[in-house]
Amino acid sequence: MRIDILTLFDDTVSTVMDMSIIGRAQDRGFITIKAHNIRDYTLNKQKQVDDYPYGGGTGMIMNADPLYNCWKYVKNAAEGEAHTVYMSPQGKRFSQEDAKRLATYGRLILVCGHYEGVDERFIEECVDEEISLGDFVLTGGEIPAMAVCDAVCRLIPGVLASEESYKGESHWDGLLEYPQYTRPEVWRGRRVPEVLLSGHHANIEKWRREQALLRTAKRRADMLKEASLTEEDISFLKKISELDVALFDTEE
Ligand code: SAM
Repeated sequence: MRIDILTLFDDTVSTVMDMSIIGRAQDRGFITIKAHNIRDYTLNKQKQVDDYPYGGGTGMIMNADPLYNCWKYVKNAAEGEAHTVYMSPQGKRFSQEDAKRLATYGRLILVCGHYEGVDERFIEECVDEEISLGDFVLTGGEIPAMAVCDAVCRLIPGVLASEESYKGESHWDGLLEYPQYTRPEVWRGRRVPEVLLSGHHANIEKWRREQALLRTAKRRADMLKEASLTEEDISFLKKISELDVALFDTEE
């Protein structure tokens, strides 16, 4: 997997993406992440990348040309088709399912806007899809691009120690993860649940599944509609809803 990020802040993006697990995965050759400065692709002396909006109004708009020149260079800089994503508050809200889908592409180009956004004609000409980090507006697309890059890269084989590292986690199969504990056994008077110390693997698995169901029902009951649930899961959920009917009314 190769991900190219088009940005005005390539140093910042590279610094973050070269750290920790994602940085080590790059060193070991499982993924390649390259940040490119759009300003390097301007043809004017001032290296200006933005201009006033037609029709008036506040703020500046990123010119189509430097973006296009940068995008074209990057597209041809490696082999294979690249899927281009513009980070935008107007795009589809990003989810774990999108991370799974994007991880199937061999190459991604993530475009970060800044100021008031980018000239619409660049989007029409070069962008395959628009993705939003959520229903809020940030000053630039760098944080969303790095979030998408991280979420996608950790699904690439070799990046994490094993598939189990991400398959048991929140949102993978439509549930939130069970609570986790580490040493010491007692911290500020709070004990680790006894079952986790029992060494009885089947009981631990059962407890974890039930905790995941309980937690999802309490915090994100909306997710249960889409989750793949077994007969046993459903009867557990029925049991807890009889004990506390309010569980399912809280967060819908
Ligand atoms: N004028 C634009 C609008 O109202 O839709 C917002 C522009 S925003 C201030 C500047 C840039 O930040 C955008 O071009 C986009 O790349 C990025 N951005 C801001 N919020 C985002 C979000 N929620 N998700 C993804 N990208 C975002």
